[in-house]
Amino acid sequence: MIPERMEKAFNEQINAETYSAYLYWSMAAYLQTLDFPGMAHYMECQAKEELRHAAMMYKYVLERGGKVKMSAISAPPSEWDTPLHVFKSVLAHEEKVTGMINAMVDTAMELRDHASHQYLMWFVSEQVEEESNANANLSRLKKNGDNKQAMLVMDDSLGQRASLYDILPVPQD
Ligand code: MG
Repeated sequence: MIPERMEKAFNEQINAETYSAYLYWSMAAYLQTLDFPGMAHYMECQAKEELRHAAMMYKYVLERGGKVKMSAISAPPSEWDTPLHVFKSVLAHEEKVTGMINAMVDTAMELRDHASHQYLMWFVSEQVEEESNANANLSRLKKNGDNKQAMLVMDDSLGQRASLYDILPVPQD
């Protein structure tokens, strides 16, 4: 059985991961209005990945005999100043999520909940990847500056991202 404090932390994180999906979906819509369909596609893929994180935690809580408790999802912003502003916000958001995951690991250690500790290690590695991707995109955008051609090339390359649901079947369970 999952300890109560750990269960609460997972439920809060299910909410946070779902909020991340909402945030990236909102960014996708904004980028689409700026006519950057590749960047919008990239953010749509990101949103799907976040929903998958929430679904993974949902399943884990149930597997441990815990209770899943859904709570209200906050509204994300719908406007940013520029694509650069969007990608700066992505990095800041992922750094915040890393902090949340690390706090969950601290709780698991404190409670000697080895199963949750081990389960969370996947998310620790995932955050390394998320921050690295966010940093790479941000640095590329900074290099682009006001160069329209460079922005189009970047839009094209982010548009090549394979969506999780394009390569994997939608889970049936
Ligand atoms: Mg996530």
